[in-house]
Amino acid sequence: MWAACRQDFAHRWADAVTGTSYVPLGTDELVAHLLGLTHRLVESLLAPEFDPEPARAVGSDLVAAHFTGTETLSRTVVLLGERLPQMLDGWLPDAATRVTRLTGALAGGYAGALKERTLDEQEAIRNAMLAARRDVERERIVSEARFRAVFTEAAIGIAISDLRGNILEVNPALMRMFRYSAEEFRRRNVREFVHPEDAASIWLAYEQVMSGELDHYHTEKRFFRADGELIWTHLTSSLVRDADGTPSFQVALMEDVTEQKRLQARVEHQSFHDPLTRLPNRALFADHLARVFGEAGPYHRIGLCFLDLDGFKDVNDRLGHDMGDELLVAVAARLARCCGPRQLVARMGGDEFVILVEGSSGPDEVVGLAEDIQGVLRPPVRVGDHELTVTASIGIVERPVTEASAAELMQAADMTLYWAKADGRNRYAVFDPSRNAREMDRLTLSAAMPGAVDRDEFVVEYQPLVALTDGALRGVEALVRWRHPTFGLLGPDRFIGLAEETGVIVPLGRWVLARSCEQARRWRDAFGTDAPFVSVNLAPRQLYEKGLVADVTAILAGTGLDPSSLQLELTERAVMGDEAGPRAALTELHDMGVRIAIDDFGTGYSNLSYLRRLPVTGLKLDGSFADGLRRSEETDTTDERIVATLVTLAHALDLTVTAEGIETAAQVERLRALRCDAGQGWFFAPASAPERIEAMLRAAVPLGTVG
Ligand code: C2E
Ligand code: MG
Ligand code: MG
Repeated sequence: MWAACRQDFAHRWADAVTGTSYVPLGTDELVAHLLGLTHRLVESLLAPEFDPEPARAVGSDLVAAHFTGTETLSRTVVLLGERLPQMLDGWLPDAATRVTRLTGALAGGYAGALKERTLDEQEAIRNAMLAARRDVERERIVSEARFRAVFTEAAIGIAISDLRGNILEVNPALMRMFRYSAEEFRRRNVREFVHPEDAASIWLAYEQVMSGELDHYHTEKRFFRADGELIWTHLTSSLVRDADGTPSFQVALMEDVTEQKRLQARVEHQSFHDPLTRLPNRALFADHLARVFGEAGPYHRIGLCFLDLDGFKDVNDRLGHDMGDELLVAVAARLARCCGPRQLVARMGGDEFVILVEGSSGPDEVVGLAEDIQGVLRPPVRVGDHELTVTASIGIVERPVTEASAAELMQAADMTLYWAKADGRNRYAVFDPSRNAREMDRLTLSAAMPGAVDRDEFVVEYQPLVALTDGALRGVEALVRWRHPTFGLLGPDRFIGLAEETGVIVPLGRWVLARSCEQARRWRDAFGTDAPFVSVNLAPRQLYEKGLVADVTAILAGTGLDPSSLQLELTERAVMGDEAGPRAALTELHDMGVRIAIDDFGTGYSNLSYLRRLPVTGLKLDGSFADGLRRSEETDTTDERIVATLVTLAHALDLTVTAEGIETAAQVERLRALRCDAGQGWFFAPASAPERIEAMLRAAVPLGTVG
């Protein structure tokens, strides 16, 4: 962050605190001192992981530098809240949260240090008084005068009582603090100053002092003023003994810390509440959740509704952020309305809210809550002159506390909310462990895939493409598999889609192509003209990739494979677009002599006349056609007539036809009768390792006739 910004901040800080405390520094020294503190605060805000410690230290350094006036801290807090988020805007995504936490830490450090300092001061006064009493015999008059001066002039309140607790004397500071006159004090006993929420330990310590067991103690204690107002004090209570050591009376020293307490409470509240909606914020929610997980017994269940408004960004974009804010406030109020006593609603940020159901009775209760939420959101919200309809997507998780950690619960809620959104918004989704496992697998796979190409985890198998006239092995289709180190052997249906989404299909496809061409070249060397061509699947994305033609050319040149020994399979979807690039690439490949086949033909929406204008050499009829020809007893079925028409038209366009998914001899018979050229399927052979293909080539028997 720019030095000028920090300098400016330090100046504003100096302006804000000047006059609030007596600090023995000139203006320039003051700015320099605060600039040092500013650097420390800004560095801690910009750290990768936010750590509140440096801010706490800055708070206590303020006290050390005598910034101890009642206004110093509050002005500092206001300045931090106003300036820092603005200074950091664009540097940090979570600037506001960090600043709130930083402010809280600074205030905490400040209050802690101030307490220490007060105790030190009280200790000094106490010692002075004890010394005064001890000196009594020697310098009675001088010391008595000194004691009187301390007593009346002291800024802190002092009360002296006898050993039964009757108040004997109070100084002016204490009278101002409590708003009682000396007379009113003297009518009272110390024990009447009990506050109903005093810790038992305070009064135990008091009794111990009175009985001489304890010399003195420090504590923080609240009192009621004469007008009924509550005040907080730092209290030191001590026993004073006479010259021969007998307990003679008790002295209480009190400093009013009500303002600091109030400020600290405000800062604490701010750091745990969202300033816009006044709902608990993410930090408070996390605290609460951790407590539920920490305290719950084994039968305790917990539920979460995690919700996100649908299309909230639109409202912000169309109507402006102020309207967006108003809408959030209205939604927050409605959500708070449908929450019962065991339920906590928090704003997690942006348009995300969460409702925690502690000790839920089962999923139904939380589903019921989600329905209530949908109900309260249904009436349109009036914002300015607009009537807005709001809907929310809700993720629901409900389970025994013992079955998961808080982090797992949140992760599940997050995933479930995502489902509700993906399934079409304005709905709730209930967490489903098996769907979660599938999606986690997808994530795991897609993360591992890029490296897997380099680690050589993919393998190619080859499935014969057989001439129906004589059963000869004409070609093989290259089908990729992934030997995953933990999931085992994965078929392409598990990862090709993911590879397309992530773009890994491009390097993976290039690898399959190279591997298949090397293999085809080896067969060519071993079997000459009997060697099969290799048919490689091309994903749509690869066709749109600029380097495709260059890649194919380089691979063919590198392996020395003739282009006519390579076929590329493309789906109808891939070739249907009317962009010039893919079309040009196909034409170039075709002109080089590479065969182009349309894969899974009949499942898409292309028609044959359209194909006429494309550089295509063959069709692969989708397996569903072969399926329709299973039963040999029925003849001239609709499926049969469709296949007959397709074959006739394809031949008219000079395209060869290969039927996929052939599993029975009857299918072969009928496809042959319909003049289909080639077939592929388990009836002939499944996809196999290259060695098996070699064995078939060596045996040179028509496929489908043996084994
Ligand atoms: P496809 O190109 O239609 O490949 C044919 C699929 O049908 C293969 O599934 C094959 O094992 C299966 N099959 C073969 N014979 C029979 C049979 O008689 N009956 C039945 N029911 N199925 C049979 P596989 O290997 O799981 O491949 C699935 C799809 O994955 C392929 O469909 C292809 O679209 C894609 N794919 C495979 N390898 C690659 C690749 O290297 N690149 C790209 N882009 N896609 C690939
Ligand atoms: Mg294919
Ligand atoms: Mg296919």
